[in-house]
Amino acid sequence: MSSFAWPDTAPPGPLGPKHILAPNPGPMSLDGTNTWFLPTDGGMIVVDPGPDDPGHLSAIIELAGTVEEIWVTHRHIDHIEATRPLAARAGNPPIRAFDPDLCVGEPLRGDDQIELGNGAAVRVLHIPGHTDDSIGFVHTAPEEPGRLLTGDMVLGRGTTVIVPPDGSLTSYFASLDLMEQACHDHGVTELLPGHAPVLTTPIEVLQYYRSHRRERLAQVRAAVSAGHRTPDAVVEHVYDDAPANVKFAARLSAIAQLHHLREAEGLDVELTAEQLAHPYPGS
Ligand SMILES: [Zn+2]
Repeated sequence: MSSFAWPDTAPPGPLGPKHILAPNPGPMSLDGTNTWFLPTDGGMIVVDPGPDDPGHLSAIIELAGTVEEIWVTHRHIDHIEATRPLAARAGNPPIRAFDPDLCVGEPLRGDDQIELGNGAAVRVLHIPGHTDDSIGFVHTAPEEPGRLLTGDMVLGRGTTVIVPPDGSLTSYFASLDLMEQACHDHGVTELLPGHAPVLTTPIEVLQYYRSHRRERLAQVRAAVSAGHRTPDAVVEHVYDDAPANVKFAARLSAIAQLHHLREAEGLDVELTAEQLAHPYPGS
């Protein structure tokens, strides 16, 4: 499968998680960061407050009423920049993430089960791949569809960028399996991504993500066998269809693919320490 029809649906209705789009559109953040709100019996958990933009923070506080906790899906700046400014304006609620360095309070861990009140609950999934600290949240509530907040592991349009060493294609494949299993276990019918619209066909999307990566990986494996063992050679031979403005992303993908082929399959590839220390190009 080489193409996929990305649906364009509205955010969930008034009962479920609410949503505000942050004003930080860009090549990596697409329409901007999705800030999600999980209702509790006393207020809201704010997920991914996004950029430190005063207007965005005011909108968050207005919608939330009481900010009970601030959660982040992963360490990239377009998700975490506003955590501390928001906490300062909202009565210093706990800030929770997988990475203890980001937290003020208890970190979140894979398989944590958190009751939100009124029968609603969240199960935390540790889903490394985009970053090693990426987590997702399965939200369930009475009379509502199961929903999975995916952070940047699944985007509402396109596919996620993986930049080693924080990102790992090997972890990514395992996390796709974990998300698919969680969708089955909890009746998830909506994926709520870190960027771009809600997706209403979770299993199809996750299977597309897997097949898309496996297809590319097969092409890269073939290129390596033919002697194209560097990121630049792979971009030239495998990603020659990438538009010029995303060539840099193609090069990062090539590095991730070569890294995976070396780590998981023992292939002889040429990667420099510098290429493997590339900083994430996020906004
Ligand atoms: Zn992001």
